[in-house]
Formats: sequence, C-alpha cells, structure tokens
Amino acid sequence: MPENNGKIEILGLLPEQLKTELSAMGAPAFRAKQIFRWLHVKRVGEFSEMTDQSKQFQNDLESRFCIKRINIVQKLASNTDDTVKYLYRLSDGNLVEAVRMVYHHGVTACISTQVGCKMGCKFCASAPLGFIRNLTAAEMLGQIYAMDADYPEDAHISGIVLMGIGEPLDNYDNVMQFLRLISHKDGRNMSLRHVSLSTCGLVPMIDRLAEEEFPLTLSVSLHAATDEKRSALMPVNRKYPLDTLLAACKRYFDKTGRRITFEYAVIAGENDTPEYAAALGRRLRPVFSGQRPHVNLIPVNPVSGTGFQAGSAQKFQKMLEKEGLNATVRRTLGDDIKAACGQLRRDNMEKEP
Ligand code: SAH
Repeated sequence: MPENNGKIEILGLLPEQLKTELSAMGAPAFRAKQIFRWLHVKRVGEFSEMTDQSKQFQNDLESRFCIKRINIVQKLASNTDDTVKYLYRLSDGNLVEAVRMVYHHGVTACISTQVGCKMGCKFCASAPLGFIRNLTAAEMLGQIYAMDADYPEDAHISGIVLMGIGEPLDNYDNVMQFLRLISHKDGRNMSLRHVSLSTCGLVPMIDRLAEEEFPLTLSVSLHAATDEKRSALMPVNRKYPLDTLLAACKRYFDKTGRRITFEYAVIAGENDTPEYAAALGRRLRPVFSGQRPHVNLIPVNPVSGTGFQAGSAQKFQKMLEKEGLNATVRRTLGDDIKAACGQLRRDNMEKEP
C-alpha cells in the first residue's frame, strides 16, 4: 500500500463510507454527498476548492484525508488511429499504463489494476518484471479521471476494459470497490454494462464475481485448449486446469445468464493449428448450454525476449467457425505506440538505472 502519512485516500470511499468517516468527525450526514460530488463530478484536487464547505471544515478534511494525484509522465498518440497511450506515475513513484481507444460507439479506457503481475504468462510484457503491489480503487479511478481531464466532456470515457497491467481478480476487493465507485449514481455514474473484466482464470474469484450481480462482461484469457499447451503458456493453468476453469465459466453463466468472452492470442506455430481449433471447439461448445461461445482473437503482440510471433487470426477464425464457435478478430489499435499493455512501462523501467 502507498504511504499516506496516516491519511485516508478520500477518492476511494463510497458515500456511505464517507458518511461514517465524517460522522466520526462530528459532521452531518449530508456533507458526505456534497463531498462525493466535489470529488467525482467536479473533480477538485484540493479541499480548499470545496466552496460550500467552511474553511474550518476544509482544514479538518485536509488533516484526515488526502486527494492523491496520478501524474501523466508520458503520452503517446498513434499516427495511424486515435489511440493514446498514457504512462502514469503514482504517488509512490511506481509506473502504470493505460490506453484510450476511440471506437464508433464511444471512447474506451484500458486500465491497469496492479503494479506488475504475479501470473507469469509467457507471452506477456509484464510477467518478467514481477509483482510490486495492488492498485487502490482510487488509483484505478485516477487513470480514468486523468484521461477525462485531457479531453472535452463529449470525448470523456464511456467504457472501460480491465485489461491493462495486472490480474484484476488477484486484487479483488479494490477492483470491486472501483466498480462501485465508478458506477455510483452520485458520482461518475458509468454503466457497468460498458465495463469488461479480463482474467487469466482464478476460479474461486470467478465464483465470487458471479455473486456480485454486476452487469459487466467477463472475459477469460484462454489462449490454448489443451492443458499441456495452456500450462506451458500460462502457469496459472497448473493450479486451475481447463476442466476446473470451464466448469467455473459454466457456473458463472448459469448463475448470471451472461456469456463469457474467451480471449485467444494467436501465436504462430504454438496454438494456431486445426488441431487446436478442434480442441477449443470440444471444450467450449458445452459451456453455455448449446449457445454459441464467443472467442475474441488477437494476433499475439511480439514482446522481446519471448520468441513468439503473431499467427494469422483470420485463418484461425475460419477454423473456429467450422467448429461451431463465433470468433471475432480484435482490431489492433495503436501498434505504432506500443499500445499493447506493459510495453511502455517495461521500456521506461529498463531505461532507469
Ligand atoms: N490478467 C488479465 C488481464 C490483463 S492482460 C488477464 O490475463 O486476462 C489482458 C489481455 O491481454 C489478456 O487476455 C492477456 O492474456 C493478453 N495479453 C498479454 N500479453 C499479450 C501479448 N503479448 N499479445 C496479445 N495479448 C496479450
């Protein structure tokens, strides 16, 4: 956890929690809603800007809470599309990345949930750098708010994918708090229907998520449909092999009625043959009680040191359709700015002594 000199990171509190904190300071309950609005609608950076609060109360807030900034270190705009990549520095100096992507239906932010990652996927730029710490809910919000502040209101973020650095379900409580905050009607009020959460497959947490009744889209990073290949690419598969993982996906669907999207990075010569397509078909067809599963294909982003090269997502898509699966090829945005998550942070860390 970042050091706050004993102060509470106020952006991370829901109105109910703020109410409890404020009542301990002897403030009336209605202050919580006012302050929540100052933080999440007006987005002030200082307590002194909360002009309907007395000077004395502003000082009291200042001594108990902090409003932490997240600073933009670097911004890279693509020359080929409207994608912008942000490198942020957190209050303790750690770096994380996020990407702003423009689609015809709106603007989506891909944000990070941890500084680094423990999962060790062999194709991923973040894996070799290891895990440093979880992000707080306020730091996840901060990534979105910093992008909003950079654009006029009609170009603010309208959708979020939790597909940046980190494994969101390995930082479960903070991610859930973030989702409650960003969707709160008195604050940013974002519909969770426009949020996707991607996981490498932490089975107990998928079961927990099914109980939350969030209308978000769950994506599961599959990348291979045999245990041998998946364990070689994703060490998490040794703990939660495919049978266990897909049984959890089935329970999630049965409980929520929401189909899961399966992510599949196509890697030349590794997981892109007709045999792998057939294995994927066999595995996925039973999961959603006869409804066609959806696989999102992306040519793997070659990360230096991994030795992996992109396979043809279009060819693999045709193979999957023959297997009775719906497959789409994800548009790769911002290739020229290393928009694939983790690469900018990694380059910057390698530059540092
Ligand atoms: N930890 C989560 C979310 C972050 S990674 C997860 O595993 O789903 C977001 C997505 O990018 C995942 O599907 C991940 O497997 C994929 N990914 C990571 N490195 C990649 C690369 N080099 N090329 C293509 N996809 C990659």
